[in-house]
Amino acid sequence: MELDDIDTVGVVGAGTMGAGIAQVAAVAGYDVVMQDIERQFVDAGFDRIEESLDRKVASGDLTGDETAAARDRIEGTTTRGDLAPCDLVIEAVVEEMDVKQSVFEDLADVVDEGTVLATNTSTLSITTIASVIDRPERVLGLHFMNPVPVMKGVELVVGEKTSEETVALGHAFAEELGKETWEADDKPGFVTNRILMPWINEGVRAYDEGVAEKADIDRGMTLGTNVPMGPLELADHIGLDVVLDASETLHRELGDRYTPAYLLKRKVDAGDLGKKTGKGFYEYD
Ligand code: NAD
Repeated sequence: MELDDIDTVGVVGAGTMGAGIAQVAAVAGYDVVMQDIERQFVDAGFDRIEESLDRKVASGDLTGDETAAARDRIEGTTTRGDLAPCDLVIEAVVEEMDVKQSVFEDLADVVDEGTVLATNTSTLSITTIASVIDRPERVLGLHFMNPVPVMKGVELVVGEKTSEETVALGHAFAEELGKETWEADDKPGFVTNRILMPWINEGVRAYDEGVAEKADIDRGMTLGTNVPMGPLELADHIGLDVVLDASETLHRELGDRYTPAYLLKRKVDAGDLGKKTGKGFYEYD
């Protein structure tokens, strides 16, 4: 499968992420089939897309004609079989392994055996998700960031069996959507959530333990470290249930990650203190 072979993109789950993925694929010119379990969830997905496309028109990023054409390219359905013509399917259902595996089992029955199957999982193992189907080499993680129509990054996660061809296609497809990619191995939380989730949890604990008012924790991190959003605001933005699911996976897989890293101590002992000494984790002139 090559980029030119992709005409129709399937999206499973029409929630926060699925609707966003369907939108960016349609804006890029793909026909999209967006499937959810109930009509009300499909409709809610379309409402989200409508609002987001309206914002794109208001900001001058897209014209009314472009957004109307994109909307027309998205078919909503509650029938898994309607994904049959898809050349690439991206799963964006709830962050639960058994649900994702059951979706992949269904997908493998419905689509052609050459169809590439991606998961938008935040933390779960791509290899474990892929283990329930034949040809796991066509499975990869395409971890879009929230909100999908705004955020540039897509984390490409390589499972144990993911083929080089699938990886190459994943990069090319994400770039076709106007995104930029980086690769992560299939380890819990990949790059982003492995680092982000402890940060958010520490913000929550700092609030719970009375370190500062909610708004001051967020102000401290935005003004103090130049991130666009503090941990509590970002957690609200992601969805507290999504944060909890991701945190539980990381805790189960990685245990207590809050002890200062050995490498940090070793670098300090060696006098490699960062920019001021010309060397920390990077080297400076
Ligand atoms: P969400 O709860 O907004 O949406 C999930 C959707 O999946 C719901 O509409 C639900 O009805 C549907 N669904 C559940 N079971 C289904 C099934 N068997 N078949 C079809 N649809 C089904 O969740 P979300 O925030 O969009 O997260 C989706 C995935 O994306 C999760 O794996 C999450 O970890 C990941 N993710 C989320 C974010 C974020 O910031 N929210 C960011 C990156 C990745």
